Amino acid sequence: MKEKLIGEAFIAMENAYAPYSNYHVGASVLTKDGKIFRGANIENASFPATNCGERSAIFACYSEGYRKEDIEGLAIVTDGDILAGPCGICRQVLSELLETDTPIYLSNGKEEKTTNIDELMPMMFGSKDLDGKI
Ligand code: ZN
Repeated sequence: MKEKLIGEAFIAMENAYAPYSNYHVGASVLTKDGKIFRGANIENASFPATNCGERSAIFACYSEGYRKEDIEGLAIVTDGDILAGPCGICRQVLSELLETDTPIYLSNGKEEKTTNIDELMPMMFGSKDLDGKI
């Protein structure tokens, strides 16, 4: 699963739109029924409007009706020199949309790391923190 997902993420990276940072990101999500969803970073001149590759992929997956319990794994790849993890916004999003132990495969083509959101975001803020407040 790991090598296939990383390969799919590198394919997704080819569609990155990154004219400002020139930092290309691709991501892929594999569902338990074998479907692959790809995503790439899509930048915008209004920088906060930029969407990261892993959010593009997971949103595509959810848009088709899949949910966290349907997801087998997520790969995130970049063309950077340093192996990178998801940004803070993506960690928050993934903490809600992935099971805490779903494997997340990181690669830059030179290095690889397998992690999960539980490791990436200890003491994550989530719906449990809103119980009784809304
Ligand atoms: Zn991000």
